Amino acid sequence: MAIRGPIEGVAPDGAITHSTLTCPECGHAESLEMPPNSCQFYHECSGCHALLKPKTGDCCVFCSYGDVPCPPQQLAGKSCCARD
Ligand SMILES: [Zn+2]
Repeated sequence: MAIRGPIEGVAPDGAITHSTLTCPECGHAESLEMPPNSCQFYHECSGCHALLKPKTGDCCVFCSYGDVPCPPQQLAGKSCCARD
């Protein structure tokens, strides 16, 4: 069973809530908190201020550029935006 408890960076349902996003434009990496039940489509790089958008087929910038996919992806194993 999943370990329950106040683990930093992990939501009660077991999802990792932080992802390190690496900018494809400048390579700047930053650790960001992800919204637990939704995806984040846009992110402005704090390094070069490029507006990052998901790659084709990905639901959010974390799935495209983060080291951890978004929580809905972690838990459901599918896109949080897909409606199939
Ligand atoms: Zn950048």
